[in-house]
Amino acid sequence: MCGIAGMVSTGDAVMGLFCLGYKQQHRSHRSAGMVVWDADECRYLPVKGMGNFTEIFTREKLAYLHGNIGIAHVRWATHGELSAKNIHPLAFLFRGKRGYIVHNGEISCRNGLEEQFRNYQPEVSADTKFIAGLIETAPTTDFLSALQYAFSVIKGTYSLLILYDNAVYAVRDVTGNRPLFMGGWQENSVCFASESSALVCLGLRPRDMREVAPGEMVVVRGSDLSVESHSIAAPPDIPRALRFCMIELLYSMYPTTIVLGRTVRSIRERLGYELGARYRPPADIVVGVPDSGVSAGIGYSAATGIPYVQGIIRYHQSGRIFYHAVDERAERYRLKYDADFEALRDRRVVLVDDTLFASDTIRNVITICVEAGAREIHVAIPSPMITRPCYYGTPTSSDHRRLIARDYGGDLEAIRTDINRTVGGRLGSLAFLTLEEAKRAIVATPPVLSGYGAIGTDNFCDACFLGGRRHIPVDVD
Ligand code: GLU
Repeated sequence: MCGIAGMVSTGDAVMGLFCLGYKQQHRSHRSAGMVVWDADECRYLPVKGMGNFTEIFTREKLAYLHGNIGIAHVRWATHGELSAKNIHPLAFLFRGKRGYIVHNGEISCRNGLEEQFRNYQPEVSADTKFIAGLIETAPTTDFLSALQYAFSVIKGTYSLLILYDNAVYAVRDVTGNRPLFMGGWQENSVCFASESSALVCLGLRPRDMREVAPGEMVVVRGSDLSVESHSIAAPPDIPRALRFCMIELLYSMYPTTIVLGRTVRSIRERLGYELGARYRPPADIVVGVPDSGVSAGIGYSAATGIPYVQGIIRYHQSGRIFYHAVDERAERYRLKYDADFEALRDRRVVLVDDTLFASDTIRNVITICVEAGAREIHVAIPSPMITRPCYYGTPTSSDHRRLIARDYGGDLEAIRTDINRTVGGRLGSLAFLTLEEAKRAIVATPPVLSGYGAIGTDNFCDACFLGGRRHIPVDVD
């Protein structure tokens, strides 16, 4: 899961790109990069580094960057290790001119491409290099045709921004699996981001922006800010139908982003409400696990009538633990979660968290609540059980090998027993939504933007959930 940003402007684009990158650090804090085209000197200015976007884009680096057109990225590796050589934007060469690409998503059919591009940019192992390689080797001299050639071959998920020849090409695969928004800023810029909340930071309102449609390529030229829209090619075995990633909605996206016409916060509240309507253990308070469990906790509280209390506060200087390597996580829970002793003492608590992957977070949060005096804990997870690794852009298949629901074949009681082994038997009960309940809740969330209302329960990628299926071929283990 990455965040991408792009800007084409009549003025300098660097501060705009900085704001868009800054506001997407919740999508990763492992590495970041930006490249702008310096039209005065006819050269690209790339800056990349390992770590947080704000650690890399210091005042000095920003002073060095200038240009009217550029793209930026924050990376959480899905394929290809997390290392300096894999930081986006990745470069390519087409008909003697350099270009750059940033990618959110994952190529799920890689075997043939690994073979074909064995000697291409050998130092780079990120799957995005295959898109670069296909563009470079396309049997055409026309750039748009070269892109179409690449899209006709790639099987996987992608939201892309490509900078080439004073234009930005913004592309979303035909399943629209990963988000991508565009908007006009002060009538003299066009900008792109993975989150609409990031565009708001530049002064745009929801009415000033739209999603790049699944299977659409938007071209914005730096010379006159003209905007063209094209429909992209795709391999015949990939359905041209929206399959938006449910993990984006449940966990990854920023709560104020409006996607599929719905605010992410209200989708999560609705998911919590759905679970609260049928699971109500005896409890005194509901506590959402911050941050992404908070909205669901509020919805759960509304359905059950059990009061919502901020029993756990997140220390805001800490990042998302999920983005740390497994062996670096243990010490981070206590740095991140602070218990309110007064709120928790002697209470029977329903903890609401957004999702359950390995279960390390919930184990640690239960322990923190118990140490603060909570008498009994119940856990409500308003998402379906995650029983399969993702090959489309959420790296549960590489960095996060352990999926507790998979380990126990979706057996609820076995999962509870396992968690109880490490929390002194204090987990009284546990509940999840079924896949159908979760999809129904998302569809039932009232849209706030017109033109997006007509989504159905078939419009989601559910491949990682119990009962879900793969819509895009996968040829890797
Ligand atoms: N697959 C790309 C990479 O690993 C993009 C990653 C992402 O979207 O998380 O570099």
